[in-house]
Amino acid sequence: MMRDLHFKPIVPLLLLLAFLGFWLLWKNPSHQELHATTRLAMGTLVSVSTWGATEAEDENGVNWVFSRIKEVESWASKQIPSSLVYKINHSPKGTLLEVPEELVTVVHTGLEIRNLSGGAFDPGLGYLVDLWGFGNGVAEEGKIPETQKIAAWLEERNKHHDFGIQWVKTANGGMAIQWGGFAYELDLGGIAKGYAMDLAMESLKLSGIPNALIVAGGDMIIAGSKGGKPWRIGIQHPRDHNKVMAFAEITGDMAMSTSGDYERFFMANGERQHHILDPKTGKPSRSGLISVSIQTSTSIKADALSTAVFVLGMKEGKALIEKLDGVEGMLVHENGERWKSPGFKGQWLEGS
Ligand code: FAD
Ligand code: MG
Repeated sequence: MMRDLHFKPIVPLLLLLAFLGFWLLWKNPSHQELHATTRLAMGTLVSVSTWGATEAEDENGVNWVFSRIKEVESWASKQIPSSLVYKINHSPKGTLLEVPEELVTVVHTGLEIRNLSGGAFDPGLGYLVDLWGFGNGVAEEGKIPETQKIAAWLEERNKHHDFGIQWVKTANGGMAIQWGGFAYELDLGGIAKGYAMDLAMESLKLSGIPNALIVAGGDMIIAGSKGGKPWRIGIQHPRDHNKVMAFAEITGDMAMSTSGDYERFFMANGERQHHILDPKTGKPSRSGLISVSIQTSTSIKADALSTAVFVLGMKEGKALIEKLDGVEGMLVHENGERWKSPGFKGQWLEGS
């Protein structure tokens, strides 16, 4: 009897505790909802944020992301001597080299944007980029190259109306490139990071993570939401590293890339000698634009288009954005002029 008397009040108490436990678990799951991982790849910091995944799911997805990025880097890098791009660039003119489909896709997309932008974007500036010292990171103590070297490159360029390379189908149905020499050395720095980001997001989705944000330098790709709330992103002020110039709240699939003259540059002759080169002059672009952000559906296009519009300048850049379906842009000129297309997701920050 005594046992019964003591036992009976405990039953509802246990039920209450169990209910409380379930409620707390439901409100505060033992796994974190937001996971963020940052690693170095492609010469820049790559951050992956996922929402709603368990620790194990996040780890698996993130590992997959970085292995895909490393794979792209292993053939697209201009710096790694074992990469295909390096081999192409260091082969004698006319060498026939078999290339994987991924490289064909990236170079073809690059050439498509080259056509669309009247040559402002060009995936074949490898020699020029190295000449200016931007091939291997920041040229802090960079020097302006000799005028004759730039002139020789421009002269070689003007000999061909096409891109100076030829595609050849191989017997097994693959593709090979017949290489066109120093004036057409590949540099995929303005496009391959974007391509890698598309593959990275695809990997996350395939691994069962539909809500994520991946940022690599100026490129970012977004999917889903943060538990129904939008991802909040900032766009850096081009002249003040600590300041955010604009911000956006985004839900769903979108890629955004920003090109600026403020990341890789050195000062010489009183001018900012930066890494975005104008293929028409062989020198850093002087279009007057200092920051260009492009939003579109794929990161490969956003990446290349932000570089293209940067070189084109305010007037032609706007025209290109307006001409293309599903492409939005935000442009900042050094004279203070700012423009964003009506569909651009984002707002200027007051006082920025
Ligand atoms: P964007 O505006 O997107 O691109 C500018 C870059 O594109 C320039 O740096 C140049 O490479 C090229 N470019 C310049 N002018 C033009 C033009 N008119 N048309 C087309 N392209 C142009 N950096 C390192 O320091 N170390 C590394 O090991 C390294 N590895 C890399 C590996 C890969 C696969 C890639 C894609 C890049 C790598 N980088 C490396 C480059 C680095 O991350 C660059 O800063 C980055 O690619 C430039 O991107 P962005 O978004 O800042 O500028
Ligand atoms: Mg870019």
